[in-house]
Amino acid sequence: MSDSLRVLAIHAHPDDIEFQCSGTLARLKEKRCSIAMATMTPGDCGSAVHPPEEIAAIRRAEAKKSADLMGADYYCLEFRDLSIFIDDQSRRKVTEILRIVNPDIVITAPPVDYMCDHEATSSLVRDACFCAPAPNYKTGLWDPAPATDKIPHLYFVDPIEGTYAFGNTIEPEFIVDIS
Ligand SMILES: [Zn+2]
Repeated sequence: MSDSLRVLAIHAHPDDIEFQCSGTLARLKEKRCSIAMATMTPGDCGSAVHPPEEIAAIRRAEAKKSADLMGADYYCLEFRDLSIFIDDQSRRKVTEILRIVNPDIVITAPPVDYMCDHEATSSLVRDACFCAPAPNYKTGLWDPAPATDKIPHLYFVDPIEGTYAFGNTIEPEFIVDIS
């Protein structure tokens, strides 16, 4: 595998990437791929004790630390938990991160999972992979990254616990051996 391959793992919350594909990322890192990890939110609803911005700061720092362990860049898109929606502005925001990283391979959330943020992330990332190379599709940022030169290869991780929303088991199309 070429050392020039860039991989973007992008999922909804801090810890989703770690649970679902960090072994795969570590294998890709061994193969000298460059890795970027992105979370849609900083996990601001992930505590019953700390207020939103306090827990967000803690979890953002944890995600950064995790990325540092991986030798990866970390990005937080600063959506908020339970507030990721498939709309125009969100699609442009996710497209911008695709353009910043310009990945060859994207790994993201599965289209069907147990909660809304995961499913919205999956859809937005899939759409952004398509939008990123279209130069007339503007992200609206003041200093936007250029359009990419290609649609990246897109992979979905399994849903949590390997089941769809109604509990039926999914059959993985392939498995990455991280043993
Ligand atoms: Zn999650």
